Amino acid sequence: MRRRITIFGSTGSIGENTVDLLTRQGGAEAYDVVALSGGRNVARLAEQAKELQADVAVTAFPECYDALKAALAGSNVEAAAGQEALVAAADRPADWIMSSIVGAAGLVPGFRALRHGTTLALANKESLVTAGPLLLAEAERHGATVMPVDSEHSAVFQALVGEDIAAVERIIITASGGAFRDWPIEALASATPEQASSHPNWAMGQRITVDSASMFNKALELIETKEYFGIDPARIEAVVHPESLIHALVGFRDGAIMAHVGPPDMRHAIGYALNWPDRAELPVARLDLAQIGQLNFRPACEQRWPALRLAREVMSAGGLSGAVFNGAKERALDAFLDRRIGFLQMAQVVEAVLDRLSHETGQTNAGMILDNVLATDRLARDTADAVIARTNQN
Ligand code: NAD
Ligand code: MG
Repeated sequence: MRRRITIFGSTGSIGENTVDLLTRQGGAEAYDVVALSGGRNVARLAEQAKELQADVAVTAFPECYDALKAALAGSNVEAAAGQEALVAAADRPADWIMSSIVGAAGLVPGFRALRHGTTLALANKESLVTAGPLLLAEAERHGATVMPVDSEHSAVFQALVGEDIAAVERIIITASGGAFRDWPIEALASATPEQASSHPNWAMGQRITVDSASMFNKALELIETKEYFGIDPARIEAVVHPESLIHALVGFRDGAIMAHVGPPDMRHAIGYALNWPDRAELPVARLDLAQIGQLNFRPACEQRWPALRLAREVMSAGGLSGAVFNGAKERALDAFLDRRIGFLQMAQVVEAVLDRLSHETGQTNAGMILDNVLATDRLARDTADAVIARTNQN
């Protein structure tokens, strides 16, 4: 049966890799592409949509509609724009939906698409961080499958095939350490957005690359691990592994550890989710272990990377604290990229917002329905903006 495919965020790093795999696996000949979405890069979005013969292409931004419409002229692809159009695209039935918009903006389209009761390939980790229990309950209600696409979580998923989760003693996710892993701690305060935007091992979107340097990415992933696998946070660890060849390890109660090893290429995790439960041939490099020679590990130091400590607090607080954490982090990242705050101030802003919203409004304990998650996300952003403004006056 030809599968119907939708990709949210098709013009991004994960989206392009997904399009690449679909094209290699037969493209429009093999799949019915329903919807593709992007942002301001409408030329590329239109090109993908024509190539894959999508039914509709959606730009998230209404002001980009005319340009998208013009770029699609003469094709059979419909143009649409804005948040409502994204939701309408999610409502079009599909069998495999890739959620690869960056940030909390990715939550609603993926959540909505669960109604089809099919497969949601989830690269958008923010969905699990902000609304994990809600998203997974919605998936269960509709008989949908959520497949992890983050490399670490795909690795854990694969290590758990055929295993009983009750026999798992620990889950270890690896971190490359990002751009500054070898910098002296004293130098971090003056790190610039340009310096933070180059990753030693992975080619990714700019935001996740900077989040790798600050370890906010790993912090999100610790929370993602807790939410997705439903495991006690005390059993979840992060370790720095500069080569990024082992993506995660699962330790069992008999002392065995299963490690997932592969090159740093997201097409593995995307391709696994696309072809699961089968394994298809994928265009990723094959490792020559004798050539690699050795693999290194270092502790993930919470003094150097306070985001990891904050993730522990969020995992133990639960509720909407993940939405607070993520919303504040997104605004702190914006402020760092705009040079309104320094690199180390990102974690200070997030910590201040977590404190304020748990002590002053009790927001972290509000019930988890979608409206509360979205309201908390907005409140966290506003609170972060206020904290950032005050930081700048000092
Ligand atoms: P990216 O910045 O390269 O692409 C983001 C996509 O989202 C683009 O298509 C962009 O047009 C769209 N977009 C941006 N803002 C939007 C908005 N407000 N509304 C709707 N669409 C919007 O990002 P990426 O690196 O591909 O990451 C995408 C997601 O996958 C993130 O959640 C990230 O954490 C996760 N992820 C990425 C990688 C990676 O290797 N890049 C690995 C693991 C997980
Ligand atoms: Mg990852």
